[in-house]
Amino acid sequence: MGVSKMTGKFLKVKCGKCKNEQVIFEKPAGKVECLVCGEILAESRGGKARIKAKVLEVVR
Ligand SMILES: [Zn+2]
Repeated sequence: MGVSKMTGKFLKVKCGKCKNEQVIFEKPAGKVECLVCGEILAESRGGKARIKAKVLEVVR
């Protein structure tokens, strides 16, 4: 699924609100919301990503 030409890693995070575990890109283009409750897990600001959820592990 998808192209393998990517820079950056994926992070497995846990939503602080509903405890849903979700894999997100470490450098999102915009806002990343929890698929279950809609909580913001990460957002991009001035080219830098701010991860707001708890990072469980780095997925390669
Ligand atoms: Zn959630």
